Amino acid sequence: MKNKVLDRLAKIPYGKGGQNLVSAGMISDIVVMDNKVVFSITVPEDGGQEINELQATAEREVSRIEGIDTVLVVLTAEKKASKPEQKEPPKLSTKPDRPVGPDMRPTPGAIPGVKAVLAVASGKGGVGKSTTSVNLALGLRALGLKVGLLDCDIYGPSIPRLMGITERPEIVNHRIIPVEQYGIKVMSMGFLMDEEAPLIWRGPMVTSGLMQMVREVEWGALDVLVLDMPPGTGDAQLTLAQQVPLAGSVIVSTPQDLALIDARKGLKMFKNVDVPILGIIENMSTFFCPHCGERSDIFGHGGAQAEAGKLGVLFLGAIPLHMDIRHFSDQGKPVVVAEPDGVHAKTYKQIAMKVAALMGEAD
Ligand code: ADP
Repeated sequence: MKNKVLDRLAKIPYGKGGQNLVSAGMISDIVVMDNKVVFSITVPEDGGQEINELQATAEREVSRIEGIDTVLVVLTAEKKASKPEQKEPPKLSTKPDRPVGPDMRPTPGAIPGVKAVLAVASGKGGVGKSTTSVNLALGLRALGLKVGLLDCDIYGPSIPRLMGITERPEIVNHRIIPVEQYGIKVMSMGFLMDEEAPLIWRGPMVTSGLMQMVREVEWGALDVLVLDMPPGTGDAQLTLAQQVPLAGSVIVSTPQDLALIDARKGLKMFKNVDVPILGIIENMSTFFCPHCGERSDIFGHGGAQAEAGKLGVLFLGAIPLHMDIRHFSDQGKPVVVAEPDGVHAKTYKQIAMKVAALMGEAD
């Protein structure tokens, strides 16, 4: 099927000298899943209107292939987010306020067996970051990837509840064996602490606790490890962003302006440590009344999309504010598992396809 897609795209002329989209090296990350196709077109930043036409033409050409009903074209203006370089440390920020002198920070090493680490972050709590992490991880799993999910929110770990996990991980030879649920490997500090006793951690313990969870867990072979980051942009987040070799990050935001201001902080943090930002996901976008089905844009709609455009990051998709999403989460059965063919699962899976394509992780 991939070849059929390439054949179609090779019919679209591009550039000078009789080149086409494929021969000009514009196409990457073709993902085919059932009857859906996602691929990226690397475009020049100053492409203007011509690029939109190119996108529409590519979409139209590929959707003509028999058996294909959904085509998603991701435009990437920058260099593709690459997998973490295993030997070289990420480039350090050149922020002017950084003291001059040798950089003594530890070099992030690769996590054995883990091909790519994806951070799911938000500028503040309560925007649905954990719900999004879980469903995105399950969406990536539905693409056929081997997926792990690490709950890094050590103050309010909610992943065990969202994933309906009541058992605790085993410890074998001083290594933690993650709990497997719905086809993905899960680890959370919540497994190791008493739900009734809130944890009070001092700064350095937060960092070492988090790093321990990343390094001392027996993940085995994974295509993607999804990190549900702690909300906000404090020290713990920064440490994770610096010390874990992240292939990319996504920012979850509600449409409210305030959240977007916070989301901007999240973007800045990843930019400062040179972690590729794959895009923004708008959560609790439109509200659909469970009784009458009427649509209301409670928090305003499209704010994140407009903001993503302004900030030059990709808009990965919008998830509605819907009772089902909450209801299934409360039952410990995320909507992607509870209703795998439903409309919400479809949205999460489409976002997962884009994320996989951007990370170059889907094949
Ligand atoms: P965060 O991790 O950002 O603190 P959570 O994922 O825990 O947020 O979500 C906060 C609350 O909002 C939870 O009760 C969750 O079920 C609910 N929620 C999250 N996303 C949605 C959505 N799209 N529709 C309905 N409820 C949602």
